[in-house]
Amino acid sequence: MEQPISTPITKIGVIGGGQLAWMMGPAAQKLGLELVVQTPQETDPAVAIAQAAILAPVADGAATATLATQCDVITFENEFIDCQGLQTLADQGTRFRPGLDVLALVLDKRHQREFFSRIGLPNPRYTFLDGDESPEELMTKAEMIGFPLVIKTRRLGYDGYGTAVVQARSQLSAAWDRFNHVPVLLEEFVPFKQELAIMVARSALGDVAIYPTVETHQVEHICRRVFAPARVSAAVAARMETIARTLVEQLQLVGIVGIECFLTQDDQVLINEMAPRTHNSGHYTLDACETSQFEQQLRAVGDRPLGPTDLTCAQAVMVNLLGLDQSEAAHYRKLEILKQWPGATLYWYNKGIRPGRKLGHVTQCLEEEAEAGAAAAAIEAIWYGV
Ligand code: ADP
Repeated sequence: MEQPISTPITKIGVIGGGQLAWMMGPAAQKLGLELVVQTPQETDPAVAIAQAAILAPVADGAATATLATQCDVITFENEFIDCQGLQTLADQGTRFRPGLDVLALVLDKRHQREFFSRIGLPNPRYTFLDGDESPEELMTKAEMIGFPLVIKTRRLGYDGYGTAVVQARSQLSAAWDRFNHVPVLLEEFVPFKQELAIMVARSALGDVAIYPTVETHQVEHICRRVFAPARVSAAVAARMETIARTLVEQLQLVGIVGIECFLTQDDQVLINEMAPRTHNSGHYTLDACETSQFEQQLRAVGDRPLGPTDLTCAQAVMVNLLGLDQSEAAHYRKLEILKQWPGATLYWYNKGIRPGRKLGHVTQCLEEEAEAGAAAAAIEAIWYGV
């Protein structure tokens, strides 16, 4: 089992310099930690809050070797790394938290699913294709799952890029052609009642801190809004906590992980996927929990005691601000309105504006659960005009 590092940790390397690393800034300051980020562009959000930046792609192992010389421990805000390349560094003593074995699991959705099944956590029925299957083999595997089914690229999928629903047999071969026969998962389409998510952190000492279960709403496969806590029964919330604890203990994770689940019509919880880092479904913790997910990640990987995860208000809503097919000026006009919106906190990541890109988010804390839907709708009406 991994132990706390014997010398005090003061410098944390972060692979990736997007908004997730950017939101670690205030927490790092609070904990007296320095951040060094590895990220491709000078203009990436976290460069502004880091003590130093190594400008290189996240999968550039030589850059990570340099990062390792400047930090006590390396963590992640982006998992699309070159795991094999980094193994040599780990063998030479570089501390990665979470460990590279965890990162390797999530890099291929097939390995992730096999792991869930191995540790007894229910997940949607699936099979996989390597890419060289004949049309007959493709159909046989698809028939095992049934229609409609979902095709997902096994590697490098995010925010629904690399996910497609196939309604009927007749559409299968064309759909797979659109995937260029890369390795994919074929999985059952789950007609879920709700999508749920949960954040959980674990320290090197084995302490576990679990956040409330939240409800996420996706529009075109991308997270649009989050309600915390989720409006679910106590039994479902307890099941989510068991899944969260089981997962981090089985992984022996040091760090934080976001877990996304489907709640079926008969109240079964199926795990869809995990991300071994902070997660969009946990942004609400910045304003609505005793310890934000960003502070918690730094606490876990920096050998600081984990913080309490309780909500500080009855209900919170978080709305993502995605790039619109509109002028930059239109984006900034809407931002001005949101900045003034009563009770709301705006986070703007200062990224280049592109349609569909996650550019910022807004959180609002509420005292009444009944106000949540209307609060989210009002914020969305400003941004999306719906
Ligand atoms: P990504 O890794 O790209 O985020 P996900 O697996 O999270 O892909 O899928 C994105 C969204 O697509 C999910 O949040 C859900 O709304 C929908 N989705 C994914 N898999 C299924 C499924 N098996 N059944 C129904 N909807 C699904």
